[in-house]
Amino acid sequence: MSPGCAAAPIRKERGQREVFCGLTGIVWLHRKLQDAFFLVVGSRTCAHLLQSAAGVMIFAEPRFATAIIGERDLAGRADLDEELDRVVGRLLARRPDIKLLFLVGSCPSEVIKLDLARAAARLSRLHAPAVRVLAYSGSGIETTFTQGEDACLAALVPTLPEEPRGAAPSLLVVGALADIVEDQLRRLFEGLGIAPVRFLPPRRADALPAVGPATRVLLAQPWLGETMRALEARGTRHLSALFPLGAEGTTAWLAAAASAFDVPEGRFRAITEPGTERARKALERQRALLAGKRLFLFPDSQLEVPLARVLHRELGLVPVEVGTPYLHRAHLAPELALLPEGTPLVEGQDVDAQLDRCRAARPDLVVCGLGLANPLEAEGFTTKWSIELVFTPIQGYDQAADLGELFARPLVRRTRLVA
Ligand code: SF4
Repeated sequence: MSPGCAAAPIRKERGQREVFCGLTGIVWLHRKLQDAFFLVVGSRTCAHLLQSAAGVMIFAEPRFATAIIGERDLAGRADLDEELDRVVGRLLARRPDIKLLFLVGSCPSEVIKLDLARAAARLSRLHAPAVRVLAYSGSGIETTFTQGEDACLAALVPTLPEEPRGAAPSLLVVGALADIVEDQLRRLFEGLGIAPVRFLPPRRADALPAVGPATRVLLAQPWLGETMRALEARGTRHLSALFPLGAEGTTAWLAAAASAFDVPEGRFRAITEPGTERARKALERQRALLAGKRLFLFPDSQLEVPLARVLHRELGLVPVEVGTPYLHRAHLAPELALLPEGTPLVEGQDVDAQLDRCRAARPDLVVCGLGLANPLEAEGFTTKWSIELVFTPIQGYDQAADLGELFARPLVRRTRLVA
């Protein structure tokens, strides 16, 4: 059997990067954790980023905001701790529905070395037990856009309750998923007889899952290295698996849980085969369109390696370069083993060098961040915004066709434009 890219060398690039910062994660996290609030301690730029990433949304009560650090504060002339206490006090008095408050660090708060972890501990004591206050950094100096979720969940892990002594094995699915996907996966686990199954992040802060040595963890997203490390420190065990993208990925992901919970083979097949069939059928049309097309992935979402796997194996695309901001070799080992041998893998970014390689390769489809998409389209390339893959439900059997459609659509549009 070919080892794929399991042991392949990974080229590391360091240079100018074209990615969003970790604040972007707030856009999907605030939808998931319905009684949490995200208070960015940052600048007007941070506020603008959040507003534009969130699009035009109309909230009865928004669940994120930016406390702007003014010039006076940056010059060190104000007592920022006092100001922060005042802002938080006002917010919590006005919004008693908030049970969990995240103070989110940004570039300005990093630059002036504002100690948000200490502020969070102080504010937690002040507002206990009604509200818990936690801190993490979404600063663009330190994080790319999906790492914001990793930092947020890693901050949450030490606060999870301890599972009771002698608890029976439980399954914890980690990584924000759209509610519709979570419900479908929950039904599949029920069908397999796996229980209890819990999700992190939960929908409500008062439903934080208990963890401990009997907890088996399945990662639903590939960007959760820090969170998994924090969970391992709580005694949990990671179940190595493909990520639940496409029919093959979803089956392998479920199989990792099934094997940890001794689900009989016959039951596993009975529960997963209908979904596999549905997904394969649904992908047939797109496969006809996409097979043989050459694919170049710029580093952006950290979904790049699992995406390259599913696009290659289920839709027939040929990856000519797979870039990713960070590559967690252990978590991605099953994915790397399924990439075609010799696929160039790049971690980090030197955007000019990468653009040169992309132009030289002339791929049929480029997956990249928003900043690169327009210039590349103007040069005649067909592009797909990687951020869309994070905002669209693409996991599980019933979303496989939507995943394929996201890639087929730009090619169809380009064909129409040139026809
Ligand atoms: S955290 Fe940094 S990169 Fe992100 S919007 Fe604020 S200033 Fe910009």
